[in-house]
Amino acid sequence: MLFCHVLQPEDEHPLCLPQVLIESTDVIQLAPTVVSNLPALPFMKQTPRRLLTKTLYKKVQFHLFGKELLFEEMALTWEEWEPFLRSRLVTIRPGLQVEAGRYRCQRCHSNTPEKFGVFPCVRCGKECTYCRHCLMMGRITACTPLFRWIGPPPPLELKVQSTWEGVYSAGQELAAAEIVSSVQSKTELLVWAVCGAGKTEILFPAIEQSLQKGEHVLIATPRTDVVLELAPRLSRSFPGIPVTALHGKSDDKNSYSPFVVATTHQTMRFTEAFDTVIVDEVDAFPYTADEALVQAVNKAKKQDAAVIYLTATPTPELIKRTQHKRLDLAKIPRRFHGHPLPVPRFKWCGPWRKRLKKEQLPAAVSKWCRTKIAEQTPVFLFVSSVAIMEKTTSILQKLDPAICGVHSADKERHEKVKAFREGEIPILITTTILERGVTIPGAEAAVFGAEDSIFTESALVQIAGRVGRSHEQPDGEVLFFHFGKTKAMAAAHKHIKTMNALPFLQKEVTPIGKEEST
Ligand SMILES: [Zn+2]
Ligand SMILES: [Zn+2]
Repeated sequence: MLFCHVLQPEDEHPLCLPQVLIESTDVIQLAPTVVSNLPALPFMKQTPRRLLTKTLYKKVQFHLFGKELLFEEMALTWEEWEPFLRSRLVTIRPGLQVEAGRYRCQRCHSNTPEKFGVFPCVRCGKECTYCRHCLMMGRITACTPLFRWIGPPPPLELKVQSTWEGVYSAGQELAAAEIVSSVQSKTELLVWAVCGAGKTEILFPAIEQSLQKGEHVLIATPRTDVVLELAPRLSRSFPGIPVTALHGKSDDKNSYSPFVVATTHQTMRFTEAFDTVIVDEVDAFPYTADEALVQAVNKAKKQDAAVIYLTATPTPELIKRTQHKRLDLAKIPRRFHGHPLPVPRFKWCGPWRKRLKKEQLPAAVSKWCRTKIAEQTPVFLFVSSVAIMEKTTSILQKLDPAICGVHSADKERHEKVKAFREGEIPILITTTILERGVTIPGAEAAVFGAEDSIFTESALVQIAGRVGRSHEQPDGEVLFFHFGKTKAMAAAHKHIKTMNALPFLQKEVTPIGKEEST
């Protein structure tokens, strides 16, 4: 299918239309060609001139708003598209565009040459370039048009009211107020909240206000686990509004709601859709490692949207931005229950890799594990690789066959975490996959082989943050078993001590410019 730019009678600005819809009254400005050869057109006002049935109008409006979709994703014929295109309710844009001699995918914003391949294309019958980076969402090629809704947003007749009835800690209360003010003034804010500060609840007032105004709210996170945990909590707290949860395997992909919780990958589906964007666990993999994901989140938000970054361990780049006053900062150094963070202890355990080869654990590690099993304290045991996890698990299973290991590609991962939560697994040996997002009341944590470079300062702080999260059991042991102390271990220790030393009341939220010298 080829596309052209045409002027309709009385039009000042061109439209992009497929060749099949050209009429004799249209003046062709740019001759029919592959869509990626055409420049993207600016968005013009609607010019209603074709009749549309209400049902079809609503269907397209709800399905397409805030997104850019492929022809195949909408199941409409060109004849059905025509009135939308001619009235400028929908515009067609090229899926790939050439910028400075390079292709850029307009859906995932990827532009690295390795991300593009060439294949014999059935759409255009030629050798055609396509984007590999977002292939799992349907192939975008040089001949692919993207459909975008530029008409009015879907009307909302929803009663949005948070039903959350918990009580904020002093720190939460101040941070919640900062978030409300950022969302109202459409600015950026970093919320640096220690693990267990209760950062989800502090979003509620801002989310409620934004939705009540008819705005669109996105919570994006690099981690599928967080989407799975957040979506039901948000549904319970905002019963008046459907929450769309998007991750690789979700069924919600075609439903419309102004309230979306999505993995950062899934934000590629959206374009200038959201007034408020909250990026939870902003420093987590793969968001920080993949510039295209940062671009995707940027593309999903409206240009003047409020952006709230949430984390317990901000990246050096984010901290630098706050220091240069290019990003506001609100800090919550205390947990919601008011108790300090458990401070990790270091325990030397000798050349443990050699021992593992002989099917043995260092005495210190096995002694600690036996004590915890006897005490019936659930324990996370973090290790640096799948191979070490498997070996350690098989050795520890001799103590108790219910002991389990888990890693990111484990198909039973969610079942195992559930069983651990329900007390069926005494020790869960895990790779860093569980360093965040999992809350097991009363659990303690140890890192076995803490000197491995995979255990960065932030990974170790997050791991320590798994402990002492409940009101009933606000403390517990965090042990780093090591064969040589690292800078990251020392930094994590200092990080936690510093947070614990920060004042508990009043100064917990220190807006930029008002920070007192400490
Ligand atoms: Zn792409
Ligand atoms: Zn093609």
